[in-house]
Amino acid sequence: MSSAHYQALEPQTSDEDNEDIERRSHHPRCTATASAPSSMVRKGGVGRRRCLLPLVGGALCFIAFCYLTLSGETRSALGLGGSTEDSEEESHHGLDSIHFRPLNESLHICSENLEDHRQFLQDKPRSDYGQLPVIYFVTPTYPRREQIPELTRLAHTLLHIPRLHWLVADDQEKCNNFIDTLLNRFGIPFTHLMSPMPSKFRNEKPAPRGVANRRAALQYLRQHNLTNGVLYFGDDDNTYDLQLFSEIRNTQRVSMFPVGLIADYGVSGPVVRKGKVVAFLDSWVAGRRWPVDMAGFAVNLEYMAQYPYVNMPYKPGYEEDLFLRSIGLKMDMIEPRGNNCTDILVWHTQTKSKKLGMIRLESKYLDDRSNLGALLLNLKLMGVASTTENEGRNALISKNGKEKPHSIILS
Ligand code: UDP
Ligand code: MN
Repeated sequence: MSSAHYQALEPQTSDEDNEDIERRSHHPRCTATASAPSSMVRKGGVGRRRCLLPLVGGALCFIAFCYLTLSGETRSALGLGGSTEDSEEESHHGLDSIHFRPLNESLHICSENLEDHRQFLQDKPRSDYGQLPVIYFVTPTYPRREQIPELTRLAHTLLHIPRLHWLVADDQEKCNNFIDTLLNRFGIPFTHLMSPMPSKFRNEKPAPRGVANRRAALQYLRQHNLTNGVLYFGDDDNTYDLQLFSEIRNTQRVSMFPVGLIADYGVSGPVVRKGKVVAFLDSWVAGRRWPVDMAGFAVNLEYMAQYPYVNMPYKPGYEEDLFLRSIGLKMDMIEPRGNNCTDILVWHTQTKSKKLGMIRLESKYLDDRSNLGALLLNLKLMGVASTTENEGRNALISKNGKEKPHSIILS
């Protein structure tokens, strides 16, 4: 998701996850109170009530108490001033994650094939790669005219990559058999899961695109106790250099790298000095501590497993930032990749979207006298085009440069 396309939003209050984050990011001192286990997350809970205490004297005492009693690590994790930059870099288990709830998504597995049916990868037998950590490549996708072509193109990149498990996380209500068949054909180990965006978000502008399904994928990893390997969020429309996969495969905690074609600058990525990430270049900051694109980082699963409240809230534009906060990221943990973040190994390409094609043909001609019946049925199943009996102009069928009546060619 390109966060850079969105304007900064007022925090939403309808969603509980967002609310937690709102509290954390705008009332850091209150979160210190709310971090007591019993008052962690509930709406109108102890933390909030304490926050609202109008007693200025009490608040001042509390702030002083925070400063005197919290460790430097805790203070910096809460953004409570002091020499934040240095102390922040020392901390490895910030309290960021503490304000999230464990994920509890509607998650349905449509189909799954955990066996790798590919014999050779990059001209070597598959067995040559047996020891490599697995890359869990999470692709949120949703039904529209371009879905099958996007997944096909992406599959042809992933076909080159050994030890990869493709989590295709579908934002739709029903399993699409066409996609199952397609995924099976590629021979890449995959899980096709379905997790639609909750209806309350559908009409929001901007809507949280690809969040429900990424959350479902996170939950899948957690439920299957997959703590070995590397997680990468790869949208269905981006363009991936094969080198990217070698770069992220040995991620220890969180690796980062620039993404091309992001918003106004045409790029978003870390600023690196002396081999360390020190800041970020991105044309839309909007208060984000981690102003990076979803395609600009990878996460080690063993590292992520230490954070039970891993989350990606339904807050458009802030998904990356809040996800990375939920896994306690600190600047000094970031591993720059791609020649110290000088190469572009992933591009935020976008496919021009068009509405469903409509082809006017009488159904009596859509039988096996020609290919058109089967072809148009396939296109319908793929969500690309539909037929109609009576809307618009008759479908153009031509021969020798001349339009012919359907009856002549198809009867
Ligand atoms: N996506 C989704 N549901 C939606 C819209 C988008 O699952 O309603 C997926 C989409 O297939 C893509 C990712 O979320 O993999 C990001 O969406 P998109 O590419 O449209 O946004 P961009 O990042 O290009 O702005
Ligand atoms: Mn995209």
